[in-house]
Amino acid sequence: MASQPRSKYPKSNIPKLRKGAEKSGSGQSGLVLCNGCQAVYFKKHWHHDLLKLNLSESASLEKNSDKKVKFALCPACQMIKNRQFEGEVIIKNVPEKLKEEVMRFVRGFCLRAYQRDPMDRLIDIKVFGKDIAVTVTENELASKLGRKMKNLFNNTKVKISFDHKPSNAARVVVEFLSNK
Ligand SMILES: [Zn+2]
Repeated sequence: MASQPRSKYPKSNIPKLRKGAEKSGSGQSGLVLCNGCQAVYFKKHWHHDLLKLNLSESASLEKNSDKKVKFALCPACQMIKNRQFEGEVIIKNVPEKLKEEVMRFVRGFCLRAYQRDPMDRLIDIKVFGKDIAVTVTENELASKLGRKMKNLFNNTKVKISFDHKPSNAARVVVEFLSNK
């Protein structure tokens, strides 16, 4: 029944990568295509692939089409490649019968976030005995996930903290309280 030591979970230096993606050298005019996930950067934001743009996005793309196109990794793909993360959610003491449901919820929650914003992504989900460790690309995504779980699953508590600058990574612990 020993709880998992923190060191078992992935830990690394985490640069603060915000949505503007200025740090990836893409804060310039023109287009950047991610060769990891097909996200496309223009108008200061990363969008889903070119085929999924809405009308005003397409129009804006049209205007930019004379500018040169660069290929690079988007911040989310870069983070995953470097084995970094910006949000960590440790779900502790998960009852065996709820494990599948928790995993399904986490995956679904992150998928919906990704559909809204291609930089919001589930990086990894791992089971360590009774605990589940989740890493994601955005600290806000991690804290939202923690709060949502607290509301959704009975008898849980959540603790959210943030690393100091420069990482600002979110550390979220959701704990299932035992009924014993
Ligand atoms: Zn990408």
